[in-house]
Amino acid sequence: MNRQFGAFTASELYCPKCKRAQPVREKLLLVLPSGELYEFLCTGCGASLAKRTVSGPATKVAASASPRTGVGRGRLLN
Ligand SMILES: [Zn+2]
Repeated sequence: MNRQFGAFTASELYCPKCKRAQPVREKLLLVLPSGELYEFLCTGCGASLAKRTVSGPATKVAASASPRTGVGRGRLLN
């Protein structure tokens, strides 16, 4: 189930302003410690039609946000 949701990408959503299904574009809205918040915008009128949070590995964020992780090994460099 999680894998299917993770692969989910909305290509068209119903837009109440355009009153029909419109192609949407995905816009990165926020980068959170727990993941990334994306917003789906109508390509016709620019309205926000949906949001979704991608809770990925976010390795770069995790690496810089939790310095304790690498304490065990890697001290040899000091
Ligand atoms: Zn629209």
